[in-house]
Amino acid sequence: MDTTQRPLSDFGPAVFDPADPVALTQALVRCPSVTPHEGGALALLDAVLSAEGYTVHRPVFSAPGMPDVENLYARLGTEGPVLVIAGHTDVVPVGDEAAWTRDPFAGSVENGILHGRGACDMKGGLAAMMAASLRFRRENPDSSGSIAFLITGDEEGPAVNGTVKLLDWAHQRGERFDHCLLGEPTNPASMSDMIKIGRRGSLTGKLTVNGKQGHVGYPDLADNPIRGMVRLLAALEATPLDQGTRHFDPSNLEVTTLDVGNPASNVVPAQARAVFNIRFNDVWTPETLAAEIERRLRDAAGNSIRYELVVQPTNAVAFMTEPGPFVNLVADAVEAETGKRPALSTTGGTSDARFIKNYCPVVEYGVVGQTMHQVDECVAVADLVTLERITRRLLGTYFAAQHKA
Ligand SMILES: [Zn+2]
Repeated sequence: MDTTQRPLSDFGPAVFDPADPVALTQALVRCPSVTPHEGGALALLDAVLSAEGYTVHRPVFSAPGMPDVENLYARLGTEGPVLVIAGHTDVVPVGDEAAWTRDPFAGSVENGILHGRGACDMKGGLAAMMAASLRFRRENPDSSGSIAFLITGDEEGPAVNGTVKLLDWAHQRGERFDHCLLGEPTNPASMSDMIKIGRRGSLTGKLTVNGKQGHVGYPDLADNPIRGMVRLLAALEATPLDQGTRHFDPSNLEVTTLDVGNPASNVVPAQARAVFNIRFNDVWTPETLAAEIERRLRDAAGNSIRYELVVQPTNAVAFMTEPGPFVNLVADAVEAETGKRPALSTTGGTSDARFIKNYCPVVEYGVVGQTMHQVDECVAVADLVTLERITRRLLGTYFAAQHKA
C-alpha cells in the first residue's frame, strides 16, 4: 500500500483551494474509494492537511482474512482542548452503474447539485467540516487548543480495520480527545432538522425450532416445527420490550426472515428457522436484552417446543451524549445559520459514534441524508456551504469558550 505523501498539486490539473467545501467535495468524490480501497482519498486529505501545518499519520491496519485498510489521523496544535472531527472516506459500491444518470466518480455540479458516490455519505460532510477547519485556523492563527481529524477507510465494510483500531492507535500514542464531531449525514430533509446525540444498539438472534419430518396425512407420526415457531415468535412480540426513554424511541424487534425450505405440500418439515433483529434503547444492555428474550422463549416453549437460540455477539450498544454545553454549542451553531433549532435524535442505524463514545462525548451532524447509498447519490451545494459555515461558527465558539475557561 502506497502511503507516501504527495503534494496537493498532484490532485488534478487545476489547483483548488481546499477551504472551498464544494471544490474539496468534488476532489474527494473523484477518488474511487470503495471499501476497502483508499482510492486516492486519504492521499488527497494528507496533502491538504499537511499543506496547512497538520501532522498527518496514515496507519494501515490488518486482520486475518480481511483486506488491509488505510486510515488517517491528523492534528494541528499541541495543547488542549482537542476537538476531533471524525469521518470516513470509503464509500459503498456504485451498484448498477448503468442506472446512474451521472458518472458516479466525476463529482459534476449541475443546477446547484453535486453528484457522485459518497457526495452525501459522507465525503460532502467531511469536506465541509475540513474546509471550515482550514478557514477557521487561517482566520484565527493564534486560536487555543487543537483540531484533529480521525478518518477511516473502513466504515462501510466490516469496520474491523477502521475506527476501533484507529482510536486505540491514537490512544496508545497518548492522544486525548475532549469532544468529537462526526460528520455523518443526519438531516432527513433540511439542514436544520437533526443532530444525533446517540444511537440505539443492535442485537441479532437466530432461532431454530426442531420437529419431526413426516407425512401430512399422518400428523401423529410427525411434529411440525412451524407450529412451535409461530408460538415463539408471537411470544417475542406479544408485549412491548419497553415504552421508550426520554431521548429514545421504544426498542423494536423485527423478524427479518422465516425459513423452512420445504418444497413439498404433503411433507411436514423437520426444522424451522427464523432470524430477528432488535434495535434497542438505553433500558437494555445486550446481556439483559438477551436474557429477556431467553425468558420469553422459555415461558412460551414449556416442555412442548424444542428450540435453540443463538444470539450473535454485538459491539452496538445503545449510548447517548447527555444534552449539555457541547450539544447546545452544536445546536446553537445550526440555529444561528439556518434560523431553526434542530431536534436532538437517537434514531437510525448504528455508526462509528458507538466506538468514539468510549473516548469522549460525540455528536453527529452532517448534510441531508436522503440519497445515501442510492443510485444518483448527491448533495446540494448550498448544504455544503451551510455546513461549512455552521462548523466554522462552532469552532469559534468552542475554542473561545475553552479559552475563557
Ligand atoms: Zn457514512
